[in-house]
Amino acid sequence: MKRNHSGDLHASYTIGALTVTSLRDGYVDMPVTRLRQPGDKTFDDGPPPQLRLVGGQLRLSVNAFAIDDGADVALIDTGASNAWHPTMGRLPQALLEANIAVDRIRTVIFTHTHLDHIQGLILPSGEDAFPRLSRLFVPWEERDLFRAEARLQRFHDRAETFEGGQRIGASIEAIAAHGHEVGHSCFRVTSGDEGVVVWGDIVHVPSLQFARPEIAWEFDDDQEQARASRLRIMALAADNGYAVAGAHLDSPGVGLITRAGTGFQFDPL
Ligand SMILES: [Zn+2]
Repeated sequence: MKRNHSGDLHASYTIGALTVTSLRDGYVDMPVTRLRQPGDKTFDDGPPPQLRLVGGQLRLSVNAFAIDDGADVALIDTGASNAWHPTMGRLPQALLEANIAVDRIRTVIFTHTHLDHIQGLILPSGEDAFPRLSRLFVPWEERDLFRAEARLQRFHDRAETFEGGQRIGASIEAIAAHGHEVGHSCFRVTSGDEGVVVWGDIVHVPSLQFARPEIAWEFDDDQEQARASRLRIMALAADNGYAVAGAHLDSPGVGLITRAGTGFQFDPL
């Protein structure tokens, strides 16, 4: 996997015959109390020393990933648009910077239906962000959650559902990784003998959760299940030599993962 070009809001990589581009929607700051030890316990004796804080808060990058096969572009997650804090919503500028025309994006795939992943379907002006969108994929278990998003009403009937194991196009395969949300999914993207796992919200806090994958997140729908999924997906990537690409890893959020002690180590690319 080779890094091609990059800028403030993007980094582009070659995987076999594919171009995979990380796109930075922005960031969101969260309190340390969101971190949970097994048993839903907070860190009452102070945060773990390896935590990297910005102004006393956890800063989560918010990233989306474009997969370009030379014909069409599939986008995995879309950022928050103007639906949350104003520190997010820069996906359109990131696409411009990366030189990806929005009318080449024909497929959008969601890892799950939290707003920092789906609301970027619509620009702040109310227009469609991707005017030539033809296929929109939502995890089967989250179809009702998606249909509950009133702002995205015009997309409700267009959404197709997918399940773990299903292929979406020639190079993308869904992997069920439930827990953070009921249908949370990762995507194995392969070409030739190279691959990257675009893993959504497997990790929220990279300074802690690689070394200590047992640490969960208050917003996990099911912390136990999320913990098991994190361990399984990290092992899958580490043991197969796949790169990983994370929605909340520090931008650009792409790198290699190896086993280290009782946890894992992440080396950004
Ligand atoms: Zn998220």
